[in-house]
Amino acid sequence: MCIFVKIYLLVNIICYKFAAFSICNFHIENTQLIVKSLNYSQMKATDVLADLKRRFPNEPEYLQAVEEVITSIEDTYNEYPEFERYNLIERLCIPDRIYSFRVSWVDDAGKVQNNMGYRIQHNNAIGPYKGGIRFHSSVNLSILKFLAFEQTFKNSLTTLAMGGAKGGSDFSPRGKSDMEVMRFCQAFITELWRQIGADTDVPAGDIGVGGREVGYMYGMYKKLARENTGTFTGKGREFGGSLIRPEATGYGNVYFLLSMLATRGIDIKDKKVAISGSGNVATYTAEKLLQLGAKVVSMSDSDGTIYVPDGITQEQLDYIFKLKNIYRGRIREFAEEYGCEYFEGERPWLRVKCDIAMPSATQNEIDGDDARALLAQGCIAVSEGANMPSTPEAIKEFLAARILYAPGKAANAGGVSVSGLEMAQNSQKLSWSAAEVDAKLKDIMAEIHHQCELFGKEADGYINYVKGANVAGFMKVARAMMAQGIL
Ligand code: NDP
Repeated sequence: MCIFVKIYLLVNIICYKFAAFSICNFHIENTQLIVKSLNYSQMKATDVLADLKRRFPNEPEYLQAVEEVITSIEDTYNEYPEFERYNLIERLCIPDRIYSFRVSWVDDAGKVQNNMGYRIQHNNAIGPYKGGIRFHSSVNLSILKFLAFEQTFKNSLTTLAMGGAKGGSDFSPRGKSDMEVMRFCQAFITELWRQIGADTDVPAGDIGVGGREVGYMYGMYKKLARENTGTFTGKGREFGGSLIRPEATGYGNVYFLLSMLATRGIDIKDKKVAISGSGNVATYTAEKLLQLGAKVVSMSDSDGTIYVPDGITQEQLDYIFKLKNIYRGRIREFAEEYGCEYFEGERPWLRVKCDIAMPSATQNEIDGDDARALLAQGCIAVSEGANMPSTPEAIKEFLAARILYAPGKAANAGGVSVSGLEMAQNSQKLSWSAAEVDAKLKDIMAEIHHQCELFGKEADGYINYVKGANVAGFMKVARAMMAQGIL
């Protein structure tokens, strides 16, 4: 090769290396600058909310749930600049994925009916997606997104390895025959079965979905997936269900209440407790309260409230259980049977005199006026069996009055906790005794209370359970997400 060509090539290589080095250096410096500036940026809950409102304007329940959580974790979040650097908050608020589908089924008259079905897989940083299925005419994307978001923090609090999810349909089992419910459940699962699995996403019950519906859905799942690994929780005892799972949400809520009362040295005995709802959570809350000597003065359904000032008896509670689960009747029939007061079309809170309120029906069932009425007549504690039953205005009233107030994600976490224990039993192909499961449930509820105290105790000693539950639930998910990278 001639000398001139050699010199030409050498100069080219040097220039190329120098350029590459400069570009590389420029890139590194720029990246450092960007990272440095991001290091100092803080998450502003109001900005995150404004952005979510712009993107999801028609989802009020979802936005309400997000607002409650991110305003109470804002300070803690900003103590870790790396969270904001990785835009953790947005990745935590927006679900991993959403499935929506049409469910077509044939009613008893031979008519084809169409409903919407959904599954929100919100976050699986700490374990497989886990959360109930709701069948109610009010179900929409906003309600399921709020429930899946809440479930993520609740499941984190349980100390078990479960991510957050929720699903459901605008199908209402009310007034439907057993065969119609079965056909609907089978059609629903025919669409959903590919997305769920024992280590992927494990559904359970919620409003309108009890043992009957879980049985039908699990049966169809098993047939399609050709496996017998659990996948649903809340199953019948004969095919992998856990003892104490039906009781767990209600019992767990009472255990949590006992821990709260203990912080003030208050005894549950003879306390008047107002309960809303007459479904799974409400009836087992009432059962445990009666065992402990408290007086259950009200229960309700979506048509009205019964009021028994001296407290219902165990025999009357058995009647309600049969009325709701076997005859699928209305709470009004209890008033007709026992001659007590019945408030048509009303919730318990404005009329019923109580020391403690345990809302166990649905979201936003205690508004500001209800909260003020409860406080005015001396209510000392509110422990939520339902998910987000108190409006933001009601929560403000409870916190300002410094009463014992437990948000659902802490107080009703017993249900999903025993679901987690059902998953563990299914994996081991074992079945634990009722006493064993109940003891574990008590331990878990005590631990949740401890975490709330740890993260929620204020300077004057008041325990802000909202802040405590949100921060404790958030930190575990946040750490898991950081460790696993941007997904
Ligand atoms: P059920 O379907 O067994 O019972 C729901 C009760 O609430 C029924 O009495 C129902 O009345 C009443 N209700 C439902 N919607 C409304 C409404 N819009 N207005 C007034 N009353 C209403 O459901 P669960 O007991 O399982 O669930 C109750 C709450 O607890 C829900 O918020 C659920 O998300 C929450 N929860 C449930 C868990 C579980 O393990 N089941 C776990 C954690 C939380 P009607 O019969 O007239 O519809």
